[in-house]
Amino acid sequence: MEESSLDSKEYKKYHCVKCGKTWGEGDDSYSYGLCLECFGDYINVKKVSKGQVPCFGTFNNNSEICNSCKWNKFCKEFYDKCKGE
Ligand SMILES: [Zn+2]
Repeated sequence: MEESSLDSKEYKKYHCVKCGKTWGEGDDSYSYGLCLECFGDYINVKKVSKGQVPCFGTFNNNSEICNSCKWNKFCKEFYDKCKGE
């Protein structure tokens, strides 16, 4: 049986450049990025500096603002994750 699935991509372990948290599984090849929490902080700081409401992480499916927000994909991910824990 052969399976050529796109799901078979290898997951790596990531380190957050800000808080040092790690996520992901697999080889620890010291890939760096911002974890979802630090990313959220970063976006909210940016929003405040533009005079906007720091609403990242409060995703609302029925909100026009949320659905047209350019961060909504990440916001939803953050929201879902925090809600699930
Ligand atoms: Zn972090």
